Parts: sequence; structure tokens; C-alpha cells
Amino acid sequence: MIPAPFRYRRVSTVDEAIKALGHDTEAKLLLGGHSLLPLMKLRLARPSTLIDVAHVSELRTVDIEQDNLAIGAGVRYAEILGDTRLTEVMPVLRQSVSVIADPQVRHRGTIGGSAAHADPAADLPAVFLAAEARFQVRGPAGARQVPADQWFVAPLVSALGPEDVLISVHFSRPLPALQAYVKFPHPASGYALAGVAALLDLAANGRVGKARIAVTGAGVMPFRAEAAESALEGRPLDRDSIAAAARAGAEAGEYADDMHYSADYRKNLAEVMIRRALEKALQA
Ligand SMILES: Cc1cc2nc3c(=O)[nH]c(=O)nc-3n(C[C@H](O)[C@H](O)[C@H](O)COP(=O)(O)OP(=O)(O)OC[C@H]3O[C@@H](n4cnc5c(N)ncnc54)[C@H](O)[C@@H]3O)c2cc1C
Repeated sequence: MIPAPFRYRRVSTVDEAIKALGHDTEAKLLLGGHSLLPLMKLRLARPSTLIDVAHVSELRTVDIEQDNLAIGAGVRYAEILGDTRLTEVMPVLRQSVSVIADPQVRHRGTIGGSAAHADPAADLPAVFLAAEARFQVRGPAGARQVPADQWFVAPLVSALGPEDVLISVHFSRPLPALQAYVKFPHPASGYALAGVAALLDLAANGRVGKARIAVTGAGVMPFRAEAAESALEGRPLDRDSIAAAARAGAEAGEYADDMHYSADYRKNLAEVMIRRALEKALQA
């Protein structure tokens, strides 16, 4: 549990970080360290240099505008939980962050570190997909935005290039009014065995307008349950439509068997948790 030797460098601007990554292809960026440092201790990651971007002011801001919400990559979970404006405009974010690990992890871990790490059992991928996040990235070739449905490339692989810095996570506003996140935690690790984010709008006639539902943990990759969304849109949100949507939504995942759980178990859990997320959203 002792990492291989590495250098440490603290930078104060994004440009400095991009330059440092360009000079050393084995370097890695550091925010809260709660995913990277455990990997280093297990020697599954051996960066030559840690480039600490946790104090870069550009990564530390929260901007709430009428049509957009932008959260800096370096904003910590505890800061999200302490920001009442965020709770008001995006309750699903608070619900998901509040069930990540324990207070220690929530005081160091960051929204950007979670996005960059792209762990398929993390909580936030479900929220990023269901809330149709856009990731603001800057690298040697300039700036670009990557939509959530192109962000998760493979387990632990995001769309970030080797010299890219994730600057912030954006959400278009207004978000659907009914929002819920539910999680069935792995009993040992606390990570999501299945986590579901649901964001819904109800039209004046009581029928579902827009529905966005995404699942993390259960599948090989986090996924949007698009079949569940189309099963709901235009229908009343009731017991029958929720059950049908949950069944359809679980079909979209690719589930693996492993030493802990079978693929059938994971699929069943995804269905149950989609149903619970929709029931919770209905009560919001
Ligand atoms: C005991 C424990 C329990 C946990 N339980 C959960 C859980 O239940 N649910 C959950 O979702 N998570 C859980 N986590 C993970 C936690 O949420 C991490 O904090 C988070 O995944 C990573 O955020 P970080 O700021 O610590 O990132 P870091 O570990 O600093 O970095 C993670 C990765 O992102 C890269 N990176 C960092 N900043 C940038 C940037 N600006 N641009 C590009 N790349 C960047 C790093 O190089 C690294 O590869 C747990 C962690 C621990 C230690």
C-alpha cells in the first residue's frame, strides 16, 4: 500500500497544467485524490508527477445563470451539499452526492474528479447522463464541450485526451422539475450496485412531458434507459406506466456476471431501482 515514487507539483492556472501535461506524458492531474491515490497505493497507477489542480481558481466556481448551471471540476462534494442555491436548482445533484461514501470522502472528492475517473459504479454518472450534462474541456488544441452521452468511453475511460483538463460540468436550465436519485449500495464498498437518476416534467394534463432516466453501477457501463423514457413520455405517471417503463429501461443495459452477482440479478436490480426512482420523483 505504498505508492511508487512520484514528483508533486502544484499549479495555479489551467494553462500551466496543460503545459505540464505536455512536458511529461506520465504525469497525472490531482484533485481530491480519493480515486487516484488508492490506485497509486495499489500500484495500479504509477504517475511520474502529480499535477495538483485543486487550487486553480477557474476550477472552483459555481455559476448559476438563467439558462445554464456550470460547476467547476474542482468543486468538492461537501461544497455542493453546502450550497443551498444548488439544492434549489438541481435537487438530484444533492440527493446523489449525499450518498457518496462518507464525510471524509465528501470533503475531498470533487465533481470533476468523479467525471474524469469515469468509474461505472460511481454515483454521478447516472446524474450526468439523465441531466444531459456537457463537459467543458481544454487542451493544447483549445476548448471543447463533450455531451454526457459521448463522455463515458469504457470503464474508467472518459473522452478526455492525455493533455486535456476538465474545467467544468454544465447543465442546461431549467431542468425537469421532478428529480430523484436512488441507490442500492454494495454492502462492502458503498459504491452503487445500482443507482438511478430520473428527471421528469409533467404537462398540465398530468401526462409525462420530458423523461430522462439513467442507470449507474448495474451495467458494464452507465447507460441512459431510453426505452423507459419513451415508455413514459405522453402517458400519465402511475403504477402501471412506471412498472412498464422500469421493465423496458432495464433491457437497455449490458450486464456482466462476476464473482459477486449474476447478470440476471443486476438486470433485475436495475428494473427495481428504475421503478423506485420514478416513484420517488413522483413524490418530489
Ligand atoms: C473509501 C471511498 C469510498 C468511495 N465511495 C464512493 C461512492 O460510494 N460513490 C462514488 O461515486 N464515489 C466513491 N468514491 C470515489 C470518490 O467519489 C472520488 O473522490 C471521486 O471519484 C474522484 O474525485 P477526486 O476529486 O478524488 O479525483 P482524483 O482522485 O484526484 O482524480 C481522479 C481522476 O481524475 C483525473 N483528474 C483530476 N482532475 C482532473 C481534471 N481537472 N481534468 C482531467 N482529469 C482530472 C485524475 O488524474 C485521476 O485520473 C469513494 C472513494 C473512496 C476513497
